[in-house]
Amino acid sequence: MNKLKSYFVTGSLLFAVACSDPSLSTKDDSLSVVEAATQRQCGAMTVLNEQLAADPSLQSRMDAIENHTQKFIQAGGAAVARINAAGKIEIPVIVNVLYRLAEDNISDAQIQSQIDVLNEDYNATNTDVTKTPALFSGVVADVDVQFVLAGVNRKYSSKRSWRTNDAMKKTSQGGLDPTDPAHNLNLWVVNNMGSILGYAQFPGGSPATDGVVIAHNYFGRVGVVSPPYHLGRTASHEVGHWMNLRHIWGDANCGNDFVSDTPVAQTSNFGCPSFPHVSACGTDGHAEMTMNYMDYTDDACMYMFSKGQKDRMLAIFASGGARAPIGQ
Ligand SMILES: [Zn+2]
Repeated sequence: MNKLKSYFVTGSLLFAVACSDPSLSTKDDSLSVVEAATQRQCGAMTVLNEQLAADPSLQSRMDAIENHTQKFIQAGGAAVARINAAGKIEIPVIVNVLYRLAEDNISDAQIQSQIDVLNEDYNATNTDVTKTPALFSGVVADVDVQFVLAGVNRKYSSKRSWRTNDAMKKTSQGGLDPTDPAHNLNLWVVNNMGSILGYAQFPGGSPATDGVVIAHNYFGRVGVVSPPYHLGRTASHEVGHWMNLRHIWGDANCGNDFVSDTPVAQTSNFGCPSFPHVSACGTDGHAEMTMNYMDYTDDACMYMFSKGQKDRMLAIFASGGARAPIGQ
């Protein structure tokens, strides 16, 4: 609860601090394509900081979303917007594939495997959720969202790689415009983004660039996939950002992810940490939740969202939420 209470004191400072966080820019600049195979790199915060610098009004929109989220959580987090007969919030998904080579033009089976992973991970039906240590098993969340493949668009591009500048989301720049982003989750699959596996746009950003981008070989769990990011968890992580989740370490040293049941974490964790990974934050020697989808661990070593993260995600679909039109 301390983290939640402190939001109102520190929340407005977060983005300004993150903009100048030297560790973020240093990490981005120093990673090479070769390193990408061994170390997860998500571009969501870098892109967010660029958008905040370019559009001063974004901060106030995100502050309003944060206020709504905190009120939703304080009200009990139960007033979910629209649910289907199965009791789930249904999220139509449009997959936009931009390919140069045949192998970049991933198969329908690879696309469906990604939808399957999202449904398993967001409903805690993934087989590896049973690996969750007893310490955290009580906070494992069934987020109660159902992803439904609503369309696949494919387009050739001569680009050998893409940057995190949203060109893939613009037909005028060789990409594909999003399909009705107010009512769909748009995913873009590109051949590669150098060291970046994927990136998402947070709620509050421009509808024209709303969605998630993932390199083709980190998308899905069959077909052309590259270990150790071959189980579709890059999308589970990035869609978490799209639903307003922060990294588990709050993108700062022992930072705040605005979730009350995720232990404070010093920084990103890579590979497959053995449990317990004792935190250097504070003096209580608590274990970090390295198996959370919002850490940077390998696909095989992340397998849970927390109940606090669920509340935060569902807030954006509730009445007045940034993605309330989804499912209408
Ligand atoms: Zn991320």
